[in-house]
Amino acid sequence: MNVQECIFCKITKREIPSKIVYENSLNLAFLDISPISTGHTIVIPKNHYSTLEDIPDHELTELYKVVKKTAMMIHKKLQIDGYNILQNNFAAAGQVVKHFHVHIIPRNFDDDKFRIKIPRTPADEADLHNVLKKMEF
Ligand code: 5GP
Ligand code: ZN
Repeated sequence: MNVQECIFCKITKREIPSKIVYENSLNLAFLDISPISTGHTIVIPKNHYSTLEDIPDHELTELYKVVKKTAMMIHKKLQIDGYNILQNNFAAAGQVVKHFHVHIIPRNFDDDKFRIKIPRTPADEADLHNVLKKMEF
């Protein structure tokens, strides 16, 4: 991805407008242009990194402090019942904008826009055993 063409880099540089919720030296939080729910906010590092695997640990730590601060502000000020933190990595997981970002998605008990209904079945003991054997650092 050419950083010059990155939409979130352009937002950071004020080359395109956005509704900025919070800003510090490393991070920016702004309203999502196509919100899943009212107050849907995107938090980004100002530096361009594609995915979780690219952002340095220090910047990730600083970014999640902003995620927490912003989520708590939204929880209180918009009087929502809860929120989802969503972070997509790579196209297969639904990542469209290739600049690392965290979604804060406000939720209410009576909302119907963003119901996560993922079919889940208890795993076979042998399958868990086999996958765990592959998962080594
Ligand atoms: P992804 O699917 O990559 O995790 O999510 C990207 C998010 O960025 C989407 O929710 C989309 O609505 C939002 N988005 C894309 N372009 C813009 C833009 O130009 N401005 C703002 N504020 N949000 C954007
Ligand atoms: Zn970027």
